[in-house]
Amino acid sequence: MARAFLRGCESPSVVWLLLLWALSAQPDIEDVLAMRRMAMNGGIDLAHPIPRSLLAKPYRAPVLEPWFLPYEEWETEYSEYFLRHYGDARVRFRPSAICVHFTVTSSATGVYNGFVRGGGMWNGTGVSFGHPSVHLMVDKDGTVYQLLPLDFRCTGAYGVNHKALSVELVALDQKDLLSRPRQLHASFCLVRWLMRRFSIPARQVYGHNDVSLGRTVVADFLDLADKKWPNGYPPEARRTDPGWIYLRWLHLWLQAHR
Ligand SMILES: [Zn+2]
Repeated sequence: MARAFLRGCESPSVVWLLLLWALSAQPDIEDVLAMRRMAMNGGIDLAHPIPRSLLAKPYRAPVLEPWFLPYEEWETEYSEYFLRHYGDARVRFRPSAICVHFTVTSSATGVYNGFVRGGGMWNGTGVSFGHPSVHLMVDKDGTVYQLLPLDFRCTGAYGVNHKALSVELVALDQKDLLSRPRQLHASFCLVRWLMRRFSIPARQVYGHNDVSLGRTVVADFLDLADKKWPNGYPPEARRTDPGWIYLRWLHLWLQAHR
């Protein structure tokens, strides 16, 4: 569509002016969306614009409710995990990216208990026992729980766990998530707060669906353990959380509330 429009322009200078405007006005969001457009072959869903009331809702600093996982008991397991997948046994880090997910459940407690219990996790060649985790979880009413210290690496987003903070949103699917403006707004404010705190640019705010597409979308993607799929998830393991519409709304809100 853009190409057809450009062909229709009479004057090349108009085209250049439009291009310059597009490049200078919104570099971060344009970077992000261009990457995703590429990944989805133009499949960005423009049929669901962000509601005006949500876009206009001002930033409010998040309040973090402590609900810590027994992460200190997992240090040896995590150290081995990070050495195996990322070549770095350290469990402490300074985050430089954010990855957003939804839980596919209707309750935060179920997810928390699942993390504590642990289970089968992909180890690069097969499945072995481990403890999944995320840093933060936004409940349906907008309450933000902190599950890990923000300088302790989590295992929630395979491929970027060496760099990213992971944020879970309690929702069954994208449609369920998009139906709760309060939770959406709490998640947007939380992401903005994390971006400011750690100087993370918008182009490094990912969805798990971005990460699963691998290095063509997420340059930080790394997996030293998986020799068959070192640059992304196997096709059958691709993720849909938190969804392209959510991510588009998130980035539009971030852009409006810098
Ligand atoms: Zn996820």
